Amino acid sequence: THFGFKEVPLEDKETLVGSVFSSVASSYDLMNDSMSLGIHRLWKDSFVSSVLPRLPASLHQNPNSPTTTPRAPFKCLDVAGGTGDIALRILDRAREKFACRDIEVEIVDLNQGMLDEGRKRVAKTLYYNTPQISFTHGNAQSLPAHIEDNSIDLYTIAFGIRNCTSLPAVLSEAYRVLKPGGKIGVLEFGKVTNPLFRQIYRQYSFSFIPIMGKILAGDSESYQYLVESIERFPSQPEFAQLMRDAGFQTGQLREGKGGAWTDYTNGIATAWTGVKA
Ligand code: SAM
Repeated sequence: THFGFKEVPLEDKETLVGSVFSSVASSYDLMNDSMSLGIHRLWKDSFVSSVLPRLPASLHQNPNSPTTTPRAPFKCLDVAGGTGDIALRILDRAREKFACRDIEVEIVDLNQGMLDEGRKRVAKTLYYNTPQISFTHGNAQSLPAHIEDNSIDLYTIAFGIRNCTSLPAVLSEAYRVLKPGGKIGVLEFGKVTNPLFRQIYRQYSFSFIPIMGKILAGDSESYQYLVESIERFPSQPEFAQLMRDAGFQTGQLREGKGGAWTDYTNGIATAWTGVKA
């Protein structure tokens, strides 16, 4: 097929990704839910708790001692943020767990269709028309100019980095805009570690997903492309090494507590985290 990844010259990848996400933008949530059987929601919840285990104490609201000096908000950048899945979870967690609304998320995405869907979605939330959430059209590999060096507290990218032409370029941009001590969280499809489960998963993704794409979105090629892009993405330790090469401090090159990554559902999805020194 013309979406067959290996036939696409590298420089056309962004155009291709653009058309893939335009064709899926409106059915994006439905597709995510049906293809992952709703499990992507749990992955995203876990991911957001792990990148935002707490907020700086200065940001916690204390109703008994309202501060008079304005506080600098906690600034998050959710790159490839699409329809706002991660951004809204970040804001909800800050508000529900830490009673904090001094937190802002800017969503950057390459696809206007996804940004439009995101705006529609935010219009139904209490963050609508507040400085807490904003949308910017832009590329992860060279972030929009108004995002300054050393300005971001938390950088997230969920299920977006595998579509980018240059992983090192994305990571070095992330490093540049983060404050020293700022954190990066990358959520992406990983490599399934258990050999039997891996076989079942491959079977599922190469046959079932493009068929579902055809039935639900009338488009099997885009979904074929998504499956192939998952296959091509580096393994968990390889990606952790790329983060280190970009300058991030990570845990040890292994999975789990104290490690550079956490696998979800046996590595179908993986969260990598790092800190800018
Ligand atoms: N983060 C959302 C989520 O987890 O549901 C959306 C993920 S969606 C699978 C991938 C997103 O990455 C799309 O919205 C696409 O437009 C965006 N994207 C792809 N390449 C990009 C790039 N180079 N820069 C910024 N966004 C990009």
